[in-house]
Amino acid sequence: MTTPRAVWRFADWVLSADASGSDPFYVAECTTCGDASEGAEEREAPEIWSLQHAGRTGHTGFRNIVISFSRASLVEGSR
Ligand SMILES: [Zn+2]
Repeated sequence: MTTPRAVWRFADWVLSADASGSDPFYVAECTTCGDASEGAEEREAPEIWSLQHAGRTGHTGFRNIVISFSRASLVEGSR
């Protein structure tokens, strides 16, 4: 006789923006050397960092990263 290792229960979950935590924040990362800006709460600071980095290094490619938070919750009435 085998013993189950885990029990999975299926239910309906929904994912929504997490308003209780931090606001989204933005980072720019150089695709040539991997250097990255500080995280910022608005897009402008990473964009300025990208332009300054391009001026200093001649690197012209950037990865724009937006980090946001979500929270999963059970749908009411589901089981
Ligand atoms: Zn670079």
